[in-house]
Amino acid sequence: MGIDFWRRPGQSLGLPMRPHIPGPPPERGLFCNRTLNMRAIKAVGYDMDYTLIHYRVEAWERRAYEYIRDRLVEQGWPVADLTFDPMLAIRGLIIDTATGNLLKANRFGFVKKALHGTRPLEFEAQREAYARIVVDLSERRWVFLNTLFSLSEACIYAQLVDRLDAGQLPGPMGYADLYEHVRKNLDATHMQGRLKAEIIADPERYVLDDPETPLALLDQKNAGKKLLLITNSEWAYTEPMMHFAFDRHLPAGMTWRQLFDVVIVSARKPEFFTTRSALFDVVEVGGEALLRPHAGPLKAGTPYFGGSALELERHLGMSGDEILYVGDHMFGDVHVSKNVLRWRTALILRELEDEVRAIAAFRATELRLGERMERKERLEAESCQVRLELQRRRHQYGPRGTTPETELVARLAELRTELEALDAEIGPLARAATELSNPHWGLLTRAGNDKSHLARQVERYADIYTSRVSNFLFATPFVYLRSPRGSLPHDPSLPGGTPVFNVGDGAGAGPIGPDSAE
Ligand code: IMP
Ligand code: MG
Repeated sequence: MGIDFWRRPGQSLGLPMRPHIPGPPPERGLFCNRTLNMRAIKAVGYDMDYTLIHYRVEAWERRAYEYIRDRLVEQGWPVADLTFDPMLAIRGLIIDTATGNLLKANRFGFVKKALHGTRPLEFEAQREAYARIVVDLSERRWVFLNTLFSLSEACIYAQLVDRLDAGQLPGPMGYADLYEHVRKNLDATHMQGRLKAEIIADPERYVLDDPETPLALLDQKNAGKKLLLITNSEWAYTEPMMHFAFDRHLPAGMTWRQLFDVVIVSARKPEFFTTRSALFDVVEVGGEALLRPHAGPLKAGTPYFGGSALELERHLGMSGDEILYVGDHMFGDVHVSKNVLRWRTALILRELEDEVRAIAAFRATELRLGERMERKERLEAESCQVRLELQRRRHQYGPRGTTPETELVARLAELRTELEALDAEIGPLARAATELSNPHWGLLTRAGNDKSHLARQVERYADIYTSRVSNFLFATPFVYLRSPRGSLPHDPSLPGGTPVFNVGDGAGAGPIGPDSAE
């Protein structure tokens, strides 16, 4: 089936137009790291929070933040005046619990930017702290911000580091102790019913409605795929939230519970993917949910509690490469399911929409920057040649030219002046590139001129990534997603070589193209 909207300008698939299917804007593409044929996928598993249901991040995180802060106030901490700053942290940053710093690292784990508490670390201090350090997320010292739920945690931790430095918190306490304390209070905030009860009572305020998501799932179901819901949320939260997000957008008489072949709540991901836990039926009795140890095959319509991915695979009679799991948590949803079970994986990265738009808006400046960098490289190369010529003359060795030495010296001075002028132009352009989307941290997927640590994990563990589940709607359940040819410095896949500034870098990340349609 040809889909005209995948065609690049000027490219014809020779197939009829499908004007009733609107083409997606670029920021809503499915981006492919490893080729994925949706026709070979027999089951699609979905995470719920920030995957099937997208929250208004600022509202949800502000409320979660206030709950943590108020718990600390109740414990006698003088922090009642603190307020949530939505720009202080982004997903993919790393908390250094040993030093109280918030970091952005590149794909190799080298630290490219750091805040101590809420204040930027000066270049020298940053070099001093991290010149000999590679961030390795398997060490307890580092905490990766895996999901949008992490923003409240990072924000309050950074603000509390300032207070700890000012001697305003009860002590003695180190930065790692402080982190543990924040963590404990954040966990309690998520577990205790009050925050969730507020969300359930006023979902309009916290949930961003997306009527296209139920339709995308209906398409998949009717194409013969089993649909699974695997969420860490408890039943008492899952049920009303799914009802709110789905039921009014489904055909009359259908509810979200009929959409899914298997529903698992309180799944305890990532352990769900690594260990076998007991499985329980959730039995609703008089408005209350009770747990009963499960026996026998799984039944559609019964929600389950706990269990394990291995048990689920056995029930489905499918192998890992026939199951696609779609989630927003870099580690709990995508990394572990890929690493341990080799499930096919899709990461939901809502921030991608802003990111793609910011990159597009910056394109003209990026071209200017690229042009200046090319000129700089040419001038630097010439400067190197002139210096070498002068050195050989002074030491009288090797082949030498005939240009008078005074001319060479003058040219060298000229080149230095030109390079200084060029640097003065490049500086603000390069800085602007690192401040796109967020003045502290810039783009999610970039660190300096390289890919960020988050981008590297996306490449490694997410077969595909996209901003929201409803983007599957445009692609259809039959799409064949092909990864672009990867690039290397000696073998760039893009015409004209590796650009100075490009989100995909041409390596393992690119929008799906006409190849995807057949
Ligand atoms: P899922 O994304 O659908 O698997 O569900 C995420 C669940 O985990 C939600 O119920 C969140 O409230 C909860 N959650 C998110 N972050 C934390 C945390 O840091 N501690 C404890 N629970 C969390
Ligand atoms: Mg989630």
